[in-house]
Amino acid sequence: MNIILLGPPGAGKGTQAQRLVEKYGMRQLSTGDMLRAAVKAGTPVGLKAKAVMEAGELVSDEIVSALIGDELDAMGPAVGAIFDGYPRTAPQAVSLDEILTSRNRSLDHVIELDVNEDALVERITGRYTCATCGKGYHDTFEQPKVAGTCDKCGGHEFKRRPDDNEQTVRTRMAEYRAKTAPILPIYDARGIVTRVDGMADMDDVTAAIEAVLES
Ligand code: ADP
Ligand code: ADP
Ligand code: ZN
Repeated sequence: MNIILLGPPGAGKGTQAQRLVEKYGMRQLSTGDMLRAAVKAGTPVGLKAKAVMEAGELVSDEIVSALIGDELDAMGPAVGAIFDGYPRTAPQAVSLDEILTSRNRSLDHVIELDVNEDALVERITGRYTCATCGKGYHDTFEQPKVAGTCDKCGGHEFKRRPDDNEQTVRTRMAEYRAKTAPILPIYDARGIVTRVDGMADMDDVTAAIEAVLES
């Protein structure tokens, strides 16, 4: 099974993807994570992407689609893909179709996380992750069970993203509204979109998504 998690920054895509990975053994393909890894490693892609990401604008379609193709090739054909943060533009949606078809995969569901924009700034500015395993947390909404210790791996180091500040979030939301939300009708026309209330408690969001995948 291959699915897309779609929603603005802070909607809960990464949080839900991590849960689906644990439950179903699917693989999370986050172009944001791939780009951050490239920036950290100082690869040519990373050098191109760094300033664009810091500004909250979108990296080129060619770069992200190439990353997705490579990642799919690296995983076994039997493993399902959760696309998180991709596609984000109409050309990327076209590329994804080609990428999937050429690998004998098809798109089963698009889950749209429906959220109130006013809540997103608080979600984003309070977000942090475990520096060791990448598990996501929030200052108020999802704290580790033992303060300062990652629930998943026991690590003690955490990090915040440089682009998770209010100014950049506004740009990222505008990018979502202008370039990403308009791709929904493509998938609506195929009858594969399910809207899920992303303002609900995390566990309820997970349950709603699982119900779609098991339907
Ligand atoms: P995205 O990947 O869509 O940008 P994240 O999954 O990283 O969003 O979530 C952003 C922040 O909001 C994280 O700190 C996460 O813990 C928190 N969060 C995610 N889902 C919810 C929810 N349903 N209710 C409250 N906070 C949430
Ligand atoms: P969020 O979790 O807040 O939705 P991401 O981690 O998905 O954010 O993306 C962070 C940044 O990486 C984006 O603001 C953008 O600059 C870049 N990026 C990630 N995915 C894409 C994509 N599919 N197309 C273009 N740029 C992307
Ligand atoms: Zn951890």
